[in-house]
Amino acid sequence: MWIDSATHELAGWQPVEAVATAPGPYVARPPSATHPNDDSTKAIDMAKETVATGPIPVVAYLKIPDDGDPHLEGQACDGCGAIFLSERSTCSGCGRSDGFSARQLSKYGELYVFSIVHRSLPGVEVPYVSAIVDLDGGGTVKGNLVNIEPDPEHVKMGMPVETIYQIAPQRDEAGNPYLTYYFQPRADLRPRPGSAA
Ligand SMILES: [Zn+2]
Repeated sequence: MWIDSATHELAGWQPVEAVATAPGPYVARPPSATHPNDDSTKAIDMAKETVATGPIPVVAYLKIPDDGDPHLEGQACDGCGAIFLSERSTCSGCGRSDGFSARQLSKYGELYVFSIVHRSLPGVEVPYVSAIVDLDGGGTVKGNLVNIEPDPEHVKMGMPVETIYQIAPQRDEAGNPYLTYYFQPRADLRPRPGSAA
């Protein structure tokens, strides 16, 4: 089970604090951050009631099956196999419009290119690593690279990464949590920086 049915905390990952109910400005927090809120227990209890149906995918191409692990899904061209993240009528790879078939994308890939972001919107913690990842077997996806020091000494183009899923800090207007995805260095290939912190 990838997610705890009672708390909706992702297995193996530090849950992001369930905070308040009112929508606010987007606030990015590191996965291990805690919120200095004395009412946290109360907030979590309230969250349990609002998440009865599970989190909402933050993007349409993130799929959350009832009986499986979350994953990214692309649309593969029936003509040439090119993969796109959004619905389209004509393939920009081969120009045909024969149709597209949904395809589950690999959780593994390699870092195609990245940018270390030092300035962002108020409330967004910087620096962070904005990345574009080529997934194994096809599919190019943009996302943030986490669990790594955000500097060129550690982040390398071509490095193997994997997709992870996490409850996002922000909620929708009804207070429902979002499930979002990040990339991190492949845990099975290298030690995770800061994992002991
Ligand atoms: Zn095509």
